[in-house]
Amino acid sequence: MNASGGKVEYEPVIGLEIHVQLSTRTKMFCGCALSWGDPPNTHTCPTCLGLPGALPVVNERAIHYGIMIGLALECEIAERSLFHRKNYFYPDLPKGYQISQYDVPLCRGGRLGDVRIHRVHLEEDAAKLNHLGTSGRIHGSDRSWVDFNRGGTPLVEIVTEPDIRSPEQAREWLILLRTTLRQLGVSDVDMSQGSLRCDANVSIRPAGSTALGTKTELKNMNSFAFLESGVKAEIERQKRLLEEGEPVVQETLHFDPRTGNLTPLRSKEEAHDYRYFPEPDLVPLMTSEETLAAARADMPRELPAERASRFEHELGLRADTARLFAFRAELGDYFERALAAAAQNGRDGGPGLEPAELSNWIAPLVERIGSDTDPAGSNVTPESLAVLASMVKAKEISRDAAREVLTLLVHEGGNPRVIVEREGLSAITAEEDGLAELVDRAIAADPAAADQVRGGNRKAIGPLVGYVMRETKGRADGGEVTRLILERLG
Ligand SMILES: [Zn+2]
Repeated sequence: MNASGGKVEYEPVIGLEIHVQLSTRTKMFCGCALSWGDPPNTHTCPTCLGLPGALPVVNERAIHYGIMIGLALECEIAERSLFHRKNYFYPDLPKGYQISQYDVPLCRGGRLGDVRIHRVHLEEDAAKLNHLGTSGRIHGSDRSWVDFNRGGTPLVEIVTEPDIRSPEQAREWLILLRTTLRQLGVSDVDMSQGSLRCDANVSIRPAGSTALGTKTELKNMNSFAFLESGVKAEIERQKRLLEEGEPVVQETLHFDPRTGNLTPLRSKEEAHDYRYFPEPDLVPLMTSEETLAAARADMPRELPAERASRFEHELGLRADTARLFAFRAELGDYFERALAAAAQNGRDGGPGLEPAELSNWIAPLVERIGSDTDPAGSNVTPESLAVLASMVKAKEISRDAAREVLTLLVHEGGNPRVIVEREGLSAITAEEDGLAELVDRAIAADPAAADQVRGGNRKAIGPLVGYVMRETKGRADGGEVTRLILERLG
């Protein structure tokens, strides 16, 4: 409650920190192979085990990938950047420090979609700890075990500016980032396997204020749904605190997606606790013109954010549809193939189909095959979806009948024209006596509604139209039926 007694409106302020494991052949600073699922500690050497005297050598491929990510995020790529030692003790860190980048990162500034990028830097991953309670008893023992296979895996850390204003936006933006990284081919971006990990910094402030509230950090949101529900829960928790007059404490929280609970992990370390200092075993990283040119040459022709913009501004799709198709590349690819088929139909004398009209048929398809299924693997080919959409456009079938045909296509595949013929679903038109007679019967069946329509109450027409649609099993065109009834009733 504020001084005037009204409820304060709060605005969430959200920033994300994303760690991406790069899919290089070898580790960040040694020649050990990256491996998944191999027996523990079979990919180690003196460097990644931190043995005295072993020296790191930078993985050129990791730098190449780091620069590609920087270019995709429209960052400024540093001509010269530095590696630092980030010192802390933990059993998964044999050297006692992680080689990372600190005040002179590889990439700064930038933007992806509507979120600005603060920085992008390179570092190495820690080893993997297997604890009891998370992975059960290992080797019949009750101890924790360290697997150094993961230690030294190249990581890119991406830090956004706090530009995100809702849990839904956070989720959608992370999907955009993942699609972008996948298209770059720099990582397998598998959240469930930890190759894409996301932390969220969350604070709230009175709407209209520009000051930042105290933030908390949610660690390791390992799916899009957890990110959204975790951030949502944290915003609600902070609102409750402020409404009760309690302060928000800066801390790191763990979100349990099963219970929805948020529990503190540890108080947030200040940067000076890490005693960062320049890595003396590595020279500054210089980005040559050749290195930049090689990264540019490997960039995809069109990134998802550019594709969304083309769908919206060149093809005239609704903004949310454009983003959906671009961020879920398989939907965009399918849509573009259907569009090409529709254009071919148009050249062959079919009705010209606007991209937006065609796009309206993707959602009903996804609804029928399941949102996690790639439509390209379904029974409905892009060509048959284009044919179906053009039959509706040409009023050969009604919209309701087309939905029924789509359901049949999903189950059995085939040609929509053949299905329409077989099921007797072609549209009933005004010219056919049947429809005029049905309109008469509808009026006779509900004289009260007919009187109201005569009296000027247009809304009363619903039951009359419904009667005809029922009798024709949805084959009649709703607009046409309405027109006929109004004509009949003067
Ligand atoms: Zn190694």
